[in-house]
Amino acid sequence: PIETMMNHGTTAVFFDNVRIPAANRIGEEGQGFRYILSGMNAERILIAAECIGDARFFLDRATSYAKERQVFGRPIGQNQGIQFPLAQAHARAHAAKLVVADACRRYESGEVAGAEANMAKMLAAEASWQAGEAAMQTLGGFAFAAEYDIERKFRETRLYQVAPVSTNLILAYIAEHVLGLPKSY
Ligand SMILES: Cc1cc2nc3c(=O)[nH]c(=O)nc-3n(C[C@H](O)[C@H](O)[C@H](O)COP(=O)(O)OP(=O)(O)OC[C@H]3O[C@@H](n4cnc5c(N)ncnc54)[C@H](O)[C@@H]3O)c2cc1C
Repeated sequence: PIETMMNHGTTAVFFDNVRIPAANRIGEEGQGFRYILSGMNAERILIAAECIGDARFFLDRATSYAKERQVFGRPIGQNQGIQFPLAQAHARAHAAKLVVADACRRYESGEVAGAEANMAKMLAAEASWQAGEAAMQTLGGFAFAAEYDIERKFRETRLYQVAPVSTNLILAYIAEHVLGLPKSY
């Protein structure tokens, strides 16, 4: 087991000299890497959908708090300095959600969905992080209090700019496979 900064049961697994009987083979011989890639696209779409949920969580909690919390005789949510980051995060999350839905539709209909799955994951991860940032600022000191769950979710959602694939590698994929630029790695 590897202890991590967020709620995630992470374990390193090592295989040494393991032989697998042919009867246990999944699918066609020689196609394994294709199957793995297809599964990775599904994982990216799933994670992207999770990030949209994270963004909604942050926005719901932050807008509720902004309506309730009174400073100098009025709710903090009446200030544009509080409203605008939340509104921007909402717009980014909505845009990312449409890309996630497109990736999902393509994958489920059997189309090639590599680019869309990667873009969905990158945009949704960024949207959830931006919503987390806005929520942290909106809740002020209480964002750091464990009982509000904002700091927990903030730690959890940061993972998705690194795993299951880092943003740089998504950009490298788009550059090479969508834009036709030379492979960079
Ligand atoms: C909590 C957690 C759970 C995980 N669960 C799983 C799991 O279930 N299964 C699994 O297989 N893996 C899992 N992983 C691993 C995860 O997929 C990798 O950590 C992730 O893909 C990044 O790879 P890396 O750690 O090897 O980073 P590296 O590849 O070493 O990258 C480190 C940094 O360098 C950048 N970088 C690397 N190469 C380039 C390049 N060519 N150009 C530009 N920048 C580059 C990356 O973007 C990143 O910012 C998990 C990781 C974590 C943290």
